[in-house]
Amino acid sequence: MDCIFCKIVAGEIPSEKVYEDEDLYAFYDIQPAAPAHVLLIPKKHISSMMDVKEEDKGLMGNLILSIQKIAGQLGMDKEGFRVVNNIGEFGQQTVPHIHFHLIGGRQLTWPPG
Ligand code: AMP
Ligand code: ZN
Repeated sequence: MDCIFCKIVAGEIPSEKVYEDEDLYAFYDIQPAAPAHVLLIPKKHISSMMDVKEEDKGLMGNLILSIQKIAGQLGMDKEGFRVVNNIGEFGQQTVPHIHFHLIGGRQLTWPPG
């Protein structure tokens, strides 16, 4: 499949790994929006939040638990951080493989644009 994040999982495109388990992979965003900016993805290709199926419930639960681990690993669990999931055109999703941005390491502002 011609998907850059599937290629990252397969090791065909280089990435800087932050976390990995059987079903999940996390790596540094190539264009960081903050001192800490990691992308967390399921290894399985799911196009967006809108394509998550009943059978993915366990996977998505584990994904949330892995956010806790990654936040601790990056030392942003105490001060806080943000998790962002962009969906579709209006959400400005540019890569059609579901991914969660973990953004932190500085004071963030709200609302986003
Ligand atoms: P989104 O706009 O939510 O679809 O986010 C896609 C993110 O993927 C952007 O923040 C990009 O900087 C990031 N990105 C695209 N290609 C790569 C890559 N090869 N390695 C790491 N991050 C990437
Ligand atoms: Zn993919």
